[in-house]
Parts: sequence; structure tokens; C-alpha cells
Amino acid sequence: MTNYHMSPEEFREHGHEIVDWVADYLMNVAEYPVNSTVEPGAIREALPPAAPARPEPFADVVRDLNEIIMPGITHWQSPNWFSYFPANNSGPSLLGEMVAAGLGVQGMLWSTSPAATELETVVVDWLVDMLGLPKAWKTTGPGGGVIQMSASDSAHVAMVTARELARQHTSLDRMVVYASDQTHSSVEKGARIAGFTHFRVIKTDEDYAMDPAAFTEQVAADRAEGLVPVFVTVTIGTTATSAVDPIRSIATVAKQEGMWVHVDAAYGGSAMVCPEQRHRQDGLELVDSYTFNPHKWMFTNFDCNLYYVADRKPLIDAMSILPPYLRNEATLSGKVIDYRDWHVPLGRRFRSLKLWFVLRHYGVEGIQHHIREHISLAQDLAARLADDARFEVVAPHPFALVVFRHTGGNEATRKLAAGLNATGRVSLSATTLGEMAAIRVSIGQTNTGAEHVNGLWALIDKLG
Ligand SMILES: *Cc1c(COP(=O)(O)O)cnc(C)c1O
Repeated sequence: MTNYHMSPEEFREHGHEIVDWVADYLMNVAEYPVNSTVEPGAIREALPPAAPARPEPFADVVRDLNEIIMPGITHWQSPNWFSYFPANNSGPSLLGEMVAAGLGVQGMLWSTSPAATELETVVVDWLVDMLGLPKAWKTTGPGGGVIQMSASDSAHVAMVTARELARQHTSLDRMVVYASDQTHSSVEKGARIAGFTHFRVIKTDEDYAMDPAAFTEQVAADRAEGLVPVFVTVTIGTTATSAVDPIRSIATVAKQEGMWVHVDAAYGGSAMVCPEQRHRQDGLELVDSYTFNPHKWMFTNFDCNLYYVADRKPLIDAMSILPPYLRNEATLSGKVIDYRDWHVPLGRRFRSLKLWFVLRHYGVEGIQHHIREHISLAQDLAARLADDARFEVVAPHPFALVVFRHTGGNEATRKLAAGLNATGRVSLSATTLGEMAAIRVSIGQTNTGAEHVNGLWALIDKLG
């Protein structure tokens, strides 16, 4: 042996095997118990404590993948996946991911692979039109979009940008940031990382949407204390119930106060591909930043998160650093985008490729079709639950998440959730809203269809 590498011929052979493996997996995934039932530590115990000193045959790796790893897999790609939110994938996405890995480019700068940057610009601009976002957010305008790893990163970057702007007139210890009691935890984490010490939690109304009057009052109270409101997050599709905050009324107050308004549409953003959903994002032209996750509900495998700003200058001012080793003619010419200046990491994967594969495979109409189908399945399930005296739907369900309880109370609700998960045939999340136990049914795995939701309903009916 002259070297230890896998030759291109061997790669071709094993590559075909692995594509078959993944295709078989996705074809049969509905047959697996959805939640893994391994005990803590079981997978580690089954694996050797040290790396192999000598090369091992690829077949042995695949054997252990099947025998040791697979039992510890939770099947997010099962059509019976109703937990959390989806993290769905699709054939074109997986193939785009494979090409990105094969090209192996590190797209930190335009010059380190021009196509990686320019394709990203094209797809994020496409999405502006696809989702009915403000035209000013296109790269051709003052704003722009970028692909980041996660919505959490976007919240963090938005807060750092807002902090740097506010620093021009006030000190960090006087700045106040706002969220609702339903805002995702990543926002509080972002505030902590960005160094904010005043984090206000605004109460929500009976639909779990932020109460604009409570927000206005809190802002006034903070002003009266000599503090400076600088940042608010509004959500389109909260994690617990998919509630939609009143963007226009919150943003109107916030802009009068000179605050930065960030929209977290991590989940709900995908639904905006359907024009009939867009009234829920009314007021976006007032906001400063916006994030959504194609890696949740747009058939694009994790990770792929889009972050838009209405004005890219403060973002780039906050994130840009140019050490000598990154200097290059293209950057200095000012004619190109270097997306490393649009987030925290320097290194960048070629994430736009899988999103481009997805958008071209489905077309706008294909994505609309499947999102509408998921929404309609959720509405049907909500209607069945509402019609049955044993159950109560406890929150509005604008998208494809239905949250319900057993009318027998918290104990009965928890028992039902545990019973449903214990069947192994479905996975769903239990949650609490205030004091109330509830069950979340999130419909959005790529292949979830009426037969799967009917199957879930049959189980609920039987165990309820
Ligand atoms: C899932 C989710 C997040 C976190 O997304 P990541 O991309 O995993 O960081 C944030 N906000 C909301 C509303 C979410 O649903």
C-alpha cells in the first residue's frame, strides 16, 4: 500500500452502497420505532474506548453503523414524527449536501470560491420574493441575506449589531432588550452572550402573542428609570404554540424608541411561501432583521438558516475584521461580498448548494403544495380534536402545529402523551403552558401524509 486513502474507485463503489443505504433507510423509516429506546451510555459502551490503530475494512464500519449506531437513532425523518418542529430533508437536499462535501470548498471569502458566495446571494434573494419579504432586503438594495447555521446565531448577531449601534449614544449597562414569555430561549441566550444585563419578558395574551400594551408600558417604565430600550424580538410561530406576535404594533412603538426589531420566523417563515399566509407577517417593512429556518420545514437538511437585514452596513461594521492574511484584491476592490463579515465564524460551508437543489427540484409550486398539505392536515386534526369532548385544542393553530390537552386534566394529558410515545409508532412532545399540561403535534416531515395523521388520530382515539 502506497498510502492509506480511499481511492476514487473505492469511493465510487462505497458511495453507491451508501446512497443505496440512505435510500433504503428513507424508504423504510416509517417501520422503525420513532423514538430510540436505548439506555443512557449504551452506545458508548458498545464502542471501543480508543480509535483503531490499524485501518479497518469499510464493510466493518457499515456493519457497526447498522448494529450499534442505528438503535440509538431518533427517526426525525419518519413520517410519524410529530415532535418539536420538523427538521425535514429531501432527495435534492441530500444530493446538494453531497456535492458540497465533494467540492469541499471553504467559502470564507468571495475569492476562496466565487460561486459559493454568488450562488448564496442568488438564493437568498430568490427567497425574498418567494416569501413576500420587503424588496429592500435584497442584495440589490440596502439590505441582504446570508445563510447561517441556526436561528440562535441570528439572534446573537442581531443583538451584537444593535448593541454596537446603541453604544454610539449609551452604555451597555443601561441598554434593555425585550422578548415575550413565549420567545425562544435562544434569544435570552443571545442577550447573555452579547452582554446585555436588562432582559425584559413581556406577557402574552390569551393567544400566546405578545401584548403590545404591556410592551409599551414596560418601555415607558424603563425610560422613566433612565434606561435605554435597544432591542425587541417578535416571533412568527412561537415554539410552544406557533403564536404570531403583532409585528406592526410592536415595531411601531419600538421604532419610535429607536430600537432594533428582530423577527424570529424560524418555524413560521416557511409558510410564507403561500401568499394566503402573508397577512401574518404584516409590518415587516418596519423591522431591522429577520430569520427563518429552511432546515425546519423547507425540505433542506440541517443546517441552513437564513438571516436578513434591512440595512447591511451596521451588520458588516459590527462583524468585519480584516487581518493581513485575509487581504485580497477582490475584497479590497469592494466589488464582492465576503459573507464572513455577516456572522461570527470565518469558515463557511457551501450551504446554498443544497437549498438551490431543493428550490430547483420543487419549484415554488412544489414547496407551496407540500406546505399547504401539512397545514391542511393540521387543520383537519385540530377539527377532529375540537369535535371530541375528551380533548381541547388550547391555542390557535395558524400553521401545522396543533396543541391540545385531555379535558381530564394535567395527569390525563401527561398519561396520554406518554402512552402515545410508548407505542413506538409516533413521536410527539409534551409541554406546559403556564400550569397547563399540553401535547404538541407538529406536522411537517417531508413524507407525512393523511395516512400518518389518520394513524396518529386512531392512537389518540384509542388511548384518550
Ligand atoms: C427552532 C427555533 C429556534 C432555534 O432554531 P435553531 O436554528 O436551532 O437555533 C428559534 N426560534 C424559534 C421560534 C424556533 O422554532
